[in-house]
Amino acid sequence: MTRPAGRKRQRPMSEGTRTGVFTGGCQCGAVRFRVEGTLGRGCVCHCRMCQKAAGNIFLPLISVQQAQLRWTRGEPKMFRSSETIQRGFCADCGTPLTYQHDGGIPELTIGSFDHPEQLEPQVQANAERTIPWAATIFEKRNVTQTLDAAWIKTYQHPDHDTETWPQETSE
Ligand SMILES: [Zn+2]
Ligand SMILES: [Zn+2]
Repeated sequence: MTRPAGRKRQRPMSEGTRTGVFTGGCQCGAVRFRVEGTLGRGCVCHCRMCQKAAGNIFLPLISVQQAQLRWTRGEPKMFRSSETIQRGFCADCGTPLTYQHDGGIPELTIGSFDHPEQLEPQVQANAERTIPWAATIFEKRNVTQTLDAAWIKTYQHPDHDTETWPQETSE
C-alpha cells in the first residue's frame, strides 16, 4: 500500500507544531476567529459539563496560551456554566466556541478550527467520567454518509475566511 499523498511520517508533537496562524468559527459563519502565535496544549475533557456544552460525549479544547486571539466576525455569546467558568457559543447557530475561567486564558473548541486535524490533543481530563462506549466507537461499522454529495446545498460556512457571509447568490 502506498502512503496517501502529502502525508508525512508522524513526528512527535513539539511546541513548534502548534505555532502559526489558525482560523476558525461557528457553523453558520456569524462568528469567526483568528489566532496567531503558539497555542497551548490540546485537551479532551470528559466531564459532564463539557459533554453537555458540546452536546457530545467529550469536548476537545485547546488553550490560546500566549497566542493572540482576535474575533474577526461577530463575537460569541457567553453562558456562565459555573461560578467561575464561562462558555462561549454562536448565538445564531449554537456552535460551542470557548471555555474560560474568570480572568484566565480562553480555550477554543478544536472542532471549530478550520483545520482541526492540525491540533491533536496531548492530554485528556476527567477520564474517569468517560462514556463507556467512547472507547469502542472507532471499531463500529462505517456506513456511507451522503452529506458531502454535490446535490446537497449546504449553509455551513467554508473552512476558510470569507470577505462577506452569507455569500450573495447570483444564480
Ligand atoms: Zn453561528
Ligand atoms: Zn470539562
